[in-house]
Amino acid sequence: MHIENNRYLLEGNVDPLKLAEKYDCPLYIYETAVMKRQYKRLMDAFDLKKLKINYACKALNNISVLRYFKSLGSGLDTVSIQEVKIGLMAGFLPEEIMFTPNCVSIEEIALAVELGVKINIDNLSILEQFGHLYPDYPVCIRINPHIMGGGNSKISVGHIDSKFGISFHQTPHIHRIIKAHDMLIEGIHMHTGSDILDIDVFLQGAEILFQVAEEFKDLQYIDFGSGFKVPYKEEDIETDIEELGEKITTRFQEFCTSYGRDLTLMFEPGKFLVSESGIFLTKVNVVKQTTSTVFAGVDSGLNHLIRPMLYDAYHKIVNISKTEGRSRIYTVVGYICETDTFGVNRKMTEINEGDILAFYNAGAYCYTMASNYNSRYRPAEVLVHEGKDYLIRRRENMDDLVKTQVVVDIFENQEVSV
Ligand SMILES: *Cc1c(COP(=O)(O)O)cnc(C)c1O
Repeated sequence: MHIENNRYLLEGNVDPLKLAEKYDCPLYIYETAVMKRQYKRLMDAFDLKKLKINYACKALNNISVLRYFKSLGSGLDTVSIQEVKIGLMAGFLPEEIMFTPNCVSIEEIALAVELGVKINIDNLSILEQFGHLYPDYPVCIRINPHIMGGGNSKISVGHIDSKFGISFHQTPHIHRIIKAHDMLIEGIHMHTGSDILDIDVFLQGAEILFQVAEEFKDLQYIDFGSGFKVPYKEEDIETDIEELGEKITTRFQEFCTSYGRDLTLMFEPGKFLVSESGIFLTKVNVVKQTTSTVFAGVDSGLNHLIRPMLYDAYHKIVNISKTEGRSRIYTVVGYICETDTFGVNRKMTEINEGDILAFYNAGAYCYTMASNYNSRYRPAEVLVHEGKDYLIRRRENMDDLVKTQVVVDIFENQEVSV
């Protein structure tokens, strides 16, 4: 979003206030131009012939968005069998879909085998069961490199991630299992968690992965996962993709030379590709002055955008109904009967009831985490592409809210219709 002639505008000069009128609030809006910019930035950062980006669709799983990424040449990273199926519906070929689940049952993995997608295994128990059932199905192995570089706050990355992946200290076990079942390992993977800022820490993880990879002779690809940070505030630093790209490119080429074959380098970003593509529009229901605070209460809450409450995520908020005039300090809150504060002491142009507030960085982990709490409808989603707006998900209605319920009269022992 940018400001022109005192108005906020989206790609192709689409006016978000007009979309708020047309589709009503609350409303999610995504811009394909931003998705494309981010996809290209990542592709251009690595000077490699064999480079594959698998969009991690848990960030934003609307099928129209998935189709757009497919048109850019992206593959798909999925974490549940349902995401795999959504990916197939969107037109991805099975071999373009990577299934990277954590702690799912062997039955769920068996379904993924039936669908023919790439499978990434992240624990020894499943690896062994898989080898027993499908010795001929090539798999990828998720390694936990326990990155602790620098001994600073990055230590927490290793800890947070400890549930994920097979520790690189356990590679002898991996080899025993693979040998016992004559399995084919086609890829090695790591995903170290979100918000990698220190490129050297990332490179240390990569070194560990290269060490592990050397011992597998049939690899097709090495997957470095994601963890690219995007800016949320003006002063935020983001992962320097260009520097990372240069360093990884050099090191990856060296590795391929010593390995004896050109492998594919893969990444699976979610946030980096879609976070900045989205804004979330809400209407101010109430401006409420208390003794210490001015609250702006909007027609949404933690049911639609839970990141601020769930992990203190910062979302920049602006009053798009007014670009000029004096500013005041507001605490922006939702309408849910819980404390659902979106932002504290935010400076923005003076708010009148009925004004539209836009939340930035609303593309990743926003709609996909939305719920029906307080029996509210989930919002509509709109995609803006080359100056045109497309409704890609309608707002829910009363029928949607109750459609899965079976209402029974427990005294008469029968179903009733309501
Ligand atoms: C969530 C996830 C991603 C995407 O992470 P971002 O921080 O959104 O880029 C990538 N790979 C796996 C396995 C994931 O679970």
